[in-house]
Amino acid sequence: MSAVHSRTWYDDTCVSPGWQSSPVINNENFDFCIIGGGLAGLSCAYHLAEKGANVALIEKSDLGAGASGRNGGFCSTGWAANSLQIRRVLGENYSTEFEALGLEGLNWMRQRAFSRRYSKAEAVKGVISLGLSKNIPEDLKVLTKDKLEEFVIGPRYRWGIVDKSAFHFHPLNFLRIFAEETQKIGVKIIENIGRVKTNKTGVISSGGINLRCNRIVWATGGYGLESNSILKKLVLPIQTFICVTSPMGAILDKYIPTNMALGDDRRAGNYFRRLPDGRLLWGMGVSAMQQKPIHKIRSMGLQNIKAHFPDMVHNMEKDRITIDYAWSGLMAYASHFLPVVGQINDREFSLCGFGGHGMNTAPIVGKKMASFLTGDSNSLDLFSRIPKQKTYGLLGRLGAEIEYRRLSFLDYLSERY
Ligand SMILES: Cc1cc2nc3c(=O)[nH]c(=O)nc-3n(C[C@H](O)[C@H](O)[C@H](O)COP(=O)(O)OP(=O)(O)OC[C@H]3O[C@@H](n4cnc5c(N)ncnc54)[C@H](O)[C@@H]3O)c2cc1C
Repeated sequence: MSAVHSRTWYDDTCVSPGWQSSPVINNENFDFCIIGGGLAGLSCAYHLAEKGANVALIEKSDLGAGASGRNGGFCSTGWAANSLQIRRVLGENYSTEFEALGLEGLNWMRQRAFSRRYSKAEAVKGVISLGLSKNIPEDLKVLTKDKLEEFVIGPRYRWGIVDKSAFHFHPLNFLRIFAEETQKIGVKIIENIGRVKTNKTGVISSGGINLRCNRIVWATGGYGLESNSILKKLVLPIQTFICVTSPMGAILDKYIPTNMALGDDRRAGNYFRRLPDGRLLWGMGVSAMQQKPIHKIRSMGLQNIKAHFPDMVHNMEKDRITIDYAWSGLMAYASHFLPVVGQINDREFSLCGFGGHGMNTAPIVGKKMASFLTGDSNSLDLFSRIPKQKTYGLLGRLGAEIEYRRLSFLDYLSERY
């Protein structure tokens, strides 16, 4: 099985789904069909049903099989594009509104993640941004190296900033609990339907099941671009990688004595966090080209951890700590790094392109899409200002790969000189 679909630590530690895939009735009628059972699709379906719509959500495999169930589990404000990139596309005024929406998304997630109903999502407050570069930001909240060592002991980390509003969590459990909530308010959730296409009456699956509906939302992330000829031209599937070690006992207490999550300040940097069963989750890198096999991700992970924690890896080797899990996932990126959201033809809509920062953005934009579809015609205004740029297929992927390597080189320079 390829690493973008392979089994993860989340799969082995998730709660049983509190819902069952709804029975499929051929030619059943709905107001809306949402294609894609990730956080974007579920949120859109939930908020449509909340407004009284009759909604089907269809997923080609299991809910959470895409990025929403296999990501790093960090949730913070912001978007996949940084503030400068957002300002460049949206201008000063609209970018302020856009950033506020990212924060609204974080608050929407926090409210659920820390509620009793979501206790199995195991949310933990706090994310520390770690500085590798020599440029220490002028920020009163900056922790200098000696203070930082209360949280992390790695020779390359020079400074840090704690964000107490951000948190980390078990994203697959969160999604499963949210799916239960979504089904309870009336959404018909159909899993394992296989690939789907749209036709004049609605959506038809590769197995010949027809669902009739008035409007269709494509919330297929980086996992479904081949099924939509329009989205395929606007968004690229980009891989990123995660490793999880075997339980590390006291080693983690020595080198990473914090329950907060941590991530460095590189453009496609490393991020890591302690898991409740004593393992270390380590996320890293991106690639727009060939998919990496699991054994390569495993060795890349160990190499990366060693580069930042040489002594810790030495102790890991002594205690025979291994990388137990290695996987990748697909993110959907437009060339400007901003989401592709809005109408794509008479009755089809796109809710896609959240890149590597979807845990706050996908659900809140899903909510905005639901408001738009139920009559609030202004709710997608911000997104109508984002141009739809072609990505140029293979050429675009090659460009993205070169750009990633260029940025990594610039990061290397800023850390060295
Ligand atoms: C490894 C990794 C780590 C990440 N870490 C973080 C993180 O720590 N914090 C953060 O904020 N973001 C992170 N992200 C990004 C975040 O996970 C995504 O932005 C977000 O999950 C996107 O949600 P989505 O619903 O748009 O897409 P997805 O979650 O990918 O969902 C799309 C769903 O659509 C289904 N589908 C596709 N095509 C079809 C079809 N034709 N018919 C039916 N169903 C279809 C897929 O099977 C999939 O389940 C990470 C991503 C990856 C891959």
